[in-house]
Amino acid sequence: MRGRRAGAYHRRMSPPAHTAPGAGVLIVGGGLVGASLAIALDAAGIPATLVEAATPRADAQPSYDERNLALARATVNGLAAIGVWPHAAAQATPIRHIHVSRAGEFGSARLDAAKHGVDALGWTLPARELGAALLRRLDACTRLTRCAPAKLEALEPHAAGWRARVHTAEGERTLDTPLLVGADGTESFVRARLGIEAERHDYEQALFVATVTPERAHAHRAYERFSDDGPVALLPLAEGRCGLVLTVPGEQADEVAALDDAGFLALAQRRFGWKLGRLGRPGRRHPYAIRRVAAQQLTGPRAVLVGNAAQTVHPIGAQGFNLGLRDALTLAELVAGAADPGDAALLARYAARRAPDREGTMAMSHGLVRLACLEQPALAPLRSLALLACDRVAPLQSLLARRGMGFRGEPPRAVLERLP
Ligand SMILES: Cc1cc2nc3c(=O)[nH]c(=O)nc-3n(C[C@H](O)[C@H](O)[C@H](O)COP(=O)(O)OP(=O)(O)OC[C@H]3O[C@@H](n4cnc5c(N)ncnc54)[C@H](O)[C@@H]3O)c2cc1C
Repeated sequence: MRGRRAGAYHRRMSPPAHTAPGAGVLIVGGGLVGASLAIALDAAGIPATLVEAATPRADAQPSYDERNLALARATVNGLAAIGVWPHAAAQATPIRHIHVSRAGEFGSARLDAAKHGVDALGWTLPARELGAALLRRLDACTRLTRCAPAKLEALEPHAAGWRARVHTAEGERTLDTPLLVGADGTESFVRARLGIEAERHDYEQALFVATVTPERAHAHRAYERFSDDGPVALLPLAEGRCGLVLTVPGEQADEVAALDDAGFLALAQRRFGWKLGRLGRPGRRHPYAIRRVAAQQLTGPRAVLVGNAAQTVHPIGAQGFNLGLRDALTLAELVAGAADPGDAALLARYAARRAPDREGTMAMSHGLVRLACLEQPALAPLRSLALLACDRVAPLQSLLARRGMGFRGEPPRAVLERLP
């Protein structure tokens, strides 16, 4: 079925001759964020072209992999609004409680969905399943031109926008666009070509992702636990399994990668503790390097960056896709109401609207990791008090819950649909 779809899609894609006059909004990168934007634009009736370097299959796209995504409530609202969630819901597990603590310190913070009047604070979904759902929804798009595998290789300014040179299996194509969207990930070619600098921070940590089965039921609770060696998270999954996210100091990465299953489980157990009893049955282990990369500007002339191309954050805060989807849905909302999608005033509005959410979320992700992992005994009582305050002080709890659910700044309308 997949093969047949991919074939049909290539036929739809075969290049006319040379230049496709008016590719509409040109989205470079069909990862989780670029694909979501393409769908949102199609749903709003905006013609667009999606260029993706990988073959359009969930097992071929780089970010449609083994990572388990914690999707904030706002994200699920947004995915429902653009028709993706019906394809993914059956594979998602609700997160009804969140527990944040630090090894060896007394404070902890807990969030409960019921206390905040909702059925779930968020959902866990394997990235591969979200990728498959996006691909199914992309198949139903009617105004979208899809180009994959196809790699953007050059960009030059053009009369009213950009001219892109794209390499495909059938040869080279040029595409003209009034709005170029860089959704091409952390090492964005578009960002570099636009001359936008990025600020980088190496956490000197490596991250391992695996599925484990704890002895006790997770009861739909997500755990985040900090320690001197870095954070560890456990996310609830179907059939009593949990998605483990284990951060280790960079210099230990090779050693941890070489551990056998028993050694890896023993390390995970030491770092996570015994709240869910013994951890067992580890699945395949995937290592990731961790960096923070933040573009110094979100827009250029008739161009905009979204998702990881705009900001890549530490995965432990589970914010990257959540933030990127809000980029995509805000852009789609603004473009839907405009005569010219690349208009400078529209792009300025986009950057202004995204700033509070982007800066707040990046600061929270970065600050959380730095503060919670600093090996400074003098900070311990303060950290514990801060966690206790988040646990006990009602307005702080509500703020934390709202932000945890992905509502910050001026969110795109699509994510608000189910908010009371
Ligand atoms: C271990 C781990 C766990 C995570 N957990 C969470 C979580 O719980 N919650 C959450 O919200 N986020 C999480 N994230 C972050 C999330 O996965 C990313 O933020 C998200 O995948 C970014 O999507 P993107 O589409 O912006 O970029 P990418 O997924 O990197 O996609 C970029 C796409 O662009 C394509 N591309 C690149 N260059 C070109 C080119 N020249 N021409 C054409 N195509 C090109 C690539 O092939 C790729 O498909 C996690 C990340 C990691 C690593």
